[in-house]
Order: sequence, then C-alpha cells, then structure tokens
Amino acid sequence: MQLIHADIVYSQDREHLAAHPDSYIAVEKGTVKGIWPVIPEEYKDVPLADYGEGTLIPAFSDLHVHAPQYLNRGIGSDLLLAEWLEKCTFPLEMKFADLEFAKLAYDVFIDDMIANGTLHACVYGTIHSEATSYLIEQMDRRGIKGFVGKVNMDRSAPAELTEDTERSVRETEAFLEKFGGNKNTRPLLTPRFAPSCTRELIGALGRLGQKYGVGMQTHLVESRWEAEQARLLFPQCSCDTEIYERAGLMDNGPVIGGHFIFPSAEDIRTMEKYGGYAVNCPDATVSVIAGIMPSGALLDRGIKIGLGSDVSAGHHIGVYTQAARAVQLSKLKSFYEPDGNRPITFPEAFWMAAKQSGELFGGVGSLEPGSVFDAIVIGGLSDAARKLSPEQTLERFCYIGTKENIKARYINGQAL
Ligand SMILES: [Zn+2]
Repeated sequence: MQLIHADIVYSQDREHLAAHPDSYIAVEKGTVKGIWPVIPEEYKDVPLADYGEGTLIPAFSDLHVHAPQYLNRGIGSDLLLAEWLEKCTFPLEMKFADLEFAKLAYDVFIDDMIANGTLHACVYGTIHSEATSYLIEQMDRRGIKGFVGKVNMDRSAPAELTEDTERSVRETEAFLEKFGGNKNTRPLLTPRFAPSCTRELIGALGRLGQKYGVGMQTHLVESRWEAEQARLLFPQCSCDTEIYERAGLMDNGPVIGGHFIFPSAEDIRTMEKYGGYAVNCPDATVSVIAGIMPSGALLDRGIKIGLGSDVSAGHHIGVYTQAARAVQLSKLKSFYEPDGNRPITFPEAFWMAAKQSGELFGGVGSLEPGSVFDAIVIGGLSDAARKLSPEQTLERFCYIGTKENIKARYINGQAL
C-alpha cells in the first residue's frame, strides 16, 4: 500500500473530467483503492509520496505509432503520402534489416515514448523479424502494456521491403508463437495497408488470427489514394474494411484502424459491429495524409476512438499534443464541412487519449478506484500571478507542455 498526494484529474465519462484538488490516492498491489481529501485514519502510517501542487493524471495510450520511423520525425513532412512513403519512409525502414542499427533506434524510441508519458501503445515494427523481436522484447521488459506488429507487405513496395508471401506468413506465425505469452507487450497482426498486401497474404493472416486468437492493426481508409488503391486491388470488396472482415481478421481480438478519415457508411457499420478502434492521428493527417477524421460524428455514433502520434507522419511522440490538435482539427472540420460535423471538447479529446484507448490494455487510462495505476505527475504549468485548476493544468499541458513538465511516472503502482 502507498499514498500519493497531488491534485488528481481523470475522465469521469466521455464528456466530463473528474477533479480532486489537493487529495490523497491510495494504491495497493498496483490498483487504485480510493481518493480522499484527507488521509483516512487507517492509512496514517502508510508511506506517502507528496507531489505538492503537482497534478496526477492517467498515463497516455498511443494507438498508432511506427517505431522505426522515429528517426524521421520532423523530416519530409511537406510531402504527401505516396511520395513520402517512397522518399522518406521506405528507405529508412530498409535499414532495419541490420539488427545493430535497429537496437540503437528502438532503444531511443522506447526511452522517449516513456519520457513523454506514453505507457501503453500499439506499435508497428518493419517486415524484419529480428529487429521487430528486439522491439517487442524491450517494450515488454520495460513494462509497456501494448502490442507490436511485424509488418506484412508482399506487393507495391520497393524490392527490399517486398516479402515473399509464404515467408511473410511463416515468419509472422513464428513471431506470434514466440511472443504470444508475453506479460506486457504482445503481438498483433499488422498488414501495413490493403495496397501493400495480396489477397493471398490477407487470407493467410486471417487464418493465423483465428488460430492464435490475435487481433490486427492496419491503416484503414487512410487517404483517398489508399482507399482507391484498395478498391482497385480488391475489386470484390466494396470498401476497405470489408477486405479485413472477409479474411476473418476482425473477430479474433482488438481491431485498430489507423486514421479512418474517409469511412463509407459500410466501413462505419463494420467497425461498430466488431468494436474496432478508429485512431485519430491529427499531426499525421495534417502533414502527409491531408484529411480530417470526422471525430465528433464518429463519437456520437458510438465508434471507439483513440489517439495516435503516428510518428513519423506525425512529428511528436507525445500523445498529449495530439489531444490538443484533435480539438483544433475538429473545429476546422466542422467549419469547412458543417453538415454532420461538430467540434469536440477537450474532455472528449482526453477521453480518447487515456480512458477510451486504455480499455484496450486492461483497466488503464483512469484513476477511479479499481483502475490499474499507470499514471504520471505533471507540473510547472501555472503562472506566478494565477494558479490553474487541475483541469486547466491538464489542458495547458496538452497544448504547450513538454516532457520536462512530467515530474514522475508510474507503471502498476511502481515509480519508474
Ligand atoms: Zn501509420
């Protein structure tokens, strides 16, 4: 048992924040036991960590990030998707055939993700088994709750990144077998996107998903270009989502669809049916994808939405920055396309960044009693002339905070 003193904020529900200024939270065996304005009599002798005017919030979840692209953050972001893949992304991903290079790159990625308060994540590796194995091993060892995928691509990529179909399936199965029993970070099937996979490969991945009870992540109706390519290459399917549904990839575990910018009515119905997560990646969508998710409309429809940094289409690894940007982009969307769209609120954006997405990782993303205590303490955000409320501190952190504002990090109740 331990006690922590701070201002405490978390999502009460989708539309409201719950705030407990100047309060005490008790954590036992990694789980929140309760929150009180004064220390309860029976806990008088429990060890106390006092963060004074610091603000305790749940840790963030990044539902869409490419670990190998971390070295490209903030580079080439003036290009659009197809050209950006060809000139920036694929040349870097090729380098991950070299395990020693991959180790250097992945160590920095994991360090910076944790430093920025992301303690849960759905991560893309590359096609390379050895490098992706190192990534999942290290994330698991560091206690990151999440998923890592060995990427599958057997067409429409440079030769060095185009897999032989049979080998792609064989190596993916070995990856599932080797890491399926991991404690924290587990495998997820990761067909990069429909244009980069043959029907044969998607079908085989569907069978692996069923055999091992594993879900999938992919880029879903990411851009008009991607959706058109998918329709050309899979003429028997009426929309992007149908490709994965037909292959049996959507009913074995979590379904994580990156972007979901231009969903058809059928795409939305299918995601609703399987409880899939649409991942809003605001920086990425502005930089290389050029579309805005209709997040207000999807939330009102009951579609689950998480946030993604999508490094390096997005340039910042901190998911907190994406909560602010999601609010801004929803305003632009509703300004230019008022029919059916609305701006989202900050509590809704924070809900996507922590509570809603945290459900994927087993009871994280909140500080209400019973939650797994994965949390961070933020501070240094008030002005001398005026102290912010806990809710204002959280909002300001998402707009102008940096990792320097994160004063402490906890996983399962253990300070890092
Ligand atoms: Zn992506």
